[in-house]
Amino acid sequence: MPGAPLQYLTDELNKLREQKLYQKLRILETEQRPVARFDGREVINLSSNNYLGLTTHPKLKQRALEAIEKWGVGSGAVRTIAGTMTLHMALEEKIAKFKHVEASVVFQSGFTANAGTVQAILGREDVIISDELNHASLIDGCRLSRAEIKVFPHKDVEACEKILKEIQNHSGHKLLITDGVFSMDGDIAPLPGLVELAEKYGCIMMIDDAHASGVLGRNGRGTVDHYDLHGRVDIQVGTLSKAIGALGGYVCSTRDAIEFLYHRARPFLFSTSHPPSVAATCIAAFEVLEEEPQLIEKLWANTRFFKAGLKKLGFNTGMSETPITPVIVGDAALAHEFSRQLFAEGVFAQSLGFPTVPHGKARIRTIVTATHTEAEMSQALQILEKVAKKLGII
Ligand SMILES: *Cc1c(COP(=O)(O)O)cnc(C)c1O
Repeated sequence: MPGAPLQYLTDELNKLREQKLYQKLRILETEQRPVARFDGREVINLSSNNYLGLTTHPKLKQRALEAIEKWGVGSGAVRTIAGTMTLHMALEEKIAKFKHVEASVVFQSGFTANAGTVQAILGREDVIISDELNHASLIDGCRLSRAEIKVFPHKDVEACEKILKEIQNHSGHKLLITDGVFSMDGDIAPLPGLVELAEKYGCIMMIDDAHASGVLGRNGRGTVDHYDLHGRVDIQVGTLSKAIGALGGYVCSTRDAIEFLYHRARPFLFSTSHPPSVAATCIAAFEVLEEEPQLIEKLWANTRFFKAGLKKLGFNTGMSETPITPVIVGDAALAHEFSRQLFAEGVFAQSLGFPTVPHGKARIRTIVTATHTEAEMSQALQILEKVAKKLGII
């Protein structure tokens, strides 16, 4: 008798348990809020990407409810068959105007927007030049495209240029691709330098602005706006799942590039479009970005307060320049233990180890939002101090 075919997966899991790397899913039992109940415990929540608190914004909830009443709960088809509704088109127009670009297309998630776009626009004969810390969805898109992938050291514009020189005579298309804000370190891409290289060497310039959407630039227009590089980045991807508070990803580019994606981006062609309530929620969210700029101001004020507190305590917060602030401890088992003990004391800061971050760079990641109070942040800092001292981290 052959053994159970899936036994090897159980063995792998047991190995993770032995190495203390096994992680249970935390269950959120309330709305996604700055103080929320996970696994039966009220905790200060430093783990969501709900930067502006929009997951619970009354205007967004109201629009979602109205959309359900008027349009039902599902779209019933993929975009290219019968699943393009008025609201989907209205959202895309709203985004294009907001981002000052010709056109945009919305995908089911930021992940599918990235992977679907890179795969669609490149082929075997092309080359991708990619930052080593780019998000998994970009990496998957690069692999699926079958283009040759050249990785440059993190944010190293000179090393990037060296690669571009080497492939100067390559006949295929070249794509220079970077995250706008890096999701595990919270640092910002050196976009001005990369854009210059893209222009000099004739590359398509693409940016994944998932953590910059609603966070960086005027009214949260992203990294391109932050550096005033309008018109010089060929493809901008953003997410609707983080600061925007709902779900989805969008691609901004020329009208023809967007129409090309209608024809070739596989998640667009083969996976059902958003429920109309999601599109309605996102439209309302972009209105809020313009109507309530104080939310972004508060996000940054909170970020400065919390970062200063962490620095003062002597934590290693790496290269962070944004609300994403890692507390790097190195060893993955220690990071997981740190996170577990913080949770027991009332702070939820998720620990991250390999493969989410490189070996030896394990950390907890903290993200404060516009809706955290100073009292909540101060309390979180006290708890971080207490637990970190106990574990010898500071
Ligand atoms: C979260 C994230 C994504 C994926 O966005 P979703 O909308 O959650 O699928 C893509 N890129 C980066 C850099 C991210 O942090």
